[in-house]
Amino acid sequence: MTRSASSPLLLDLMELEDHKTPSDVVEEILRQNPDLTYPTPLERFVELAGIESISELTTDGFEGMLITNAEKSRGAIMVKAGVSPRRRRFTIAHELGHFLLPWHRQQKFSCKSSDIKDSAQNRGLAPDLVSIETEANAFASELLMPSSAFKSFIDDFETPNLLNLTNLSDTFDVSFEATVHRYKALSDKPLAFIFSHNHIVRYWVKTQDMPYTLKVRKDHALPLRSASRNDGNSMTDLETIAAHVWLEPHSELALPRNILEQTIHQSAGYKVTLLYVENLFGLEYDQTVDFDDEADHELEFNQEVIYEQASEYSVDAAFDESI
Ligand SMILES: [Zn+2]
Repeated sequence: MTRSASSPLLLDLMELEDHKTPSDVVEEILRQNPDLTYPTPLERFVELAGIESISELTTDGFEGMLITNAEKSRGAIMVKAGVSPRRRRFTIAHELGHFLLPWHRQQKFSCKSSDIKDSAQNRGLAPDLVSIETEANAFASELLMPSSAFKSFIDDFETPNLLNLTNLSDTFDVSFEATVHRYKALSDKPLAFIFSHNHIVRYWVKTQDMPYTLKVRKDHALPLRSASRNDGNSMTDLETIAAHVWLEPHSELALPRNILEQTIHQSAGYKVTLLYVENLFGLEYDQTVDFDDEADHELEFNQEVIYEQASEYSVDAAFDESI
């Protein structure tokens, strides 16, 4: 890859000392490098940090390792042999996190594959539950997919689409799963993602703006009436599907009639399905409503919508049970 000679990379380690969270440390690195282009030149940062080598790790049970001195002026990273290039890249960024986060004070970090999660769900944990592994994952995620750069891409998407996410995965040179998790964390649209293997749900996640819970559960089959259940080897179009196939009714919000669904078929039976509630606006039920005339009217209207949807839902639910 070529880089502009006019913008050499910088890493002033002293400036990182005062920062207290992984995202603050990465923000400082980005402040020092305002012209950074993507994918993040990770191995250059590793060199600039004072890491002398990246070598293959042969110790069973570990995915990555960092060995450093007490002053953290020198270090060596080891990565499990044979992992995919994007997994390797995330692991290196994770170990660089242990090296650059000033309060990570060990001289040896041995990280298991369960410690290194590119699908990090770190947000919202109480401070005493945030482990150094979680912090190293947050550092890696933020360095490889900085929120400001990532957001500037997703702000251009009118309708969420898995094709855009595969492009982002290439742009930032990270795994598709890591991209989905980053998108989930930073999108302001009502979305959910279902990760499945051989039609069985592995897990699902939803954005903060997605008010509905999904009906599917871990280890259960994908819904029969959903196109996500079909076999295939590429990406489906965004298709309309009855909302109640996927979504649980909500106590304060009408269920929309339809939502959008799209599935990408990965290798070896792995799939990711996107759900998008396109017309959430208009289904809002305002609980804080004052009982003046106007609000009363509003409340009545919303209740009608809820009742109509609820009765439709129960008919279909009965039908589902009879299959
Ligand atoms: Zn670690």
